[in-house]
Amino acid sequence: PYVVTDLCAGCRYTECVSVCPVECFHIDDSMTYIDPTNCIDCGGCVPVCPVGAIKAAHKLPADKLEWIEINRRRAAETPVVTSRLPPLPGADERKAMILR
Ligand code: SF4
Repeated sequence: PYVVTDLCAGCRYTECVSVCPVECFHIDDSMTYIDPTNCIDCGGCVPVCPVGAIKAAHKLPADKLEWIEINRRRAAETPVVTSRLPPLPGADERKAMILR
């Protein structure tokens, strides 16, 4: 499956939600999570994330591997999100720092 990493936290642009064909995305106050049991590995969400927060699980660097389990757990604990939401306050400033 694909995995949302900590780069999403505090931005939560949700472009990913609008392209996912199978409604994988769950959401909390901070970020989105991918339900690994639904993800069909299409990769469509990767290029639309403005901060590059989404990676294939097998391409995660060692220091991000914990996000596989975090996505699995948080997706089970949080509601599905099926349409885009406004980004969190400060998301554009945070994105500028990430992409700097
Ligand atoms: Fe959805 Fe495809 Fe991203 Fe999986 S890889 S979360 S199926 S858009």
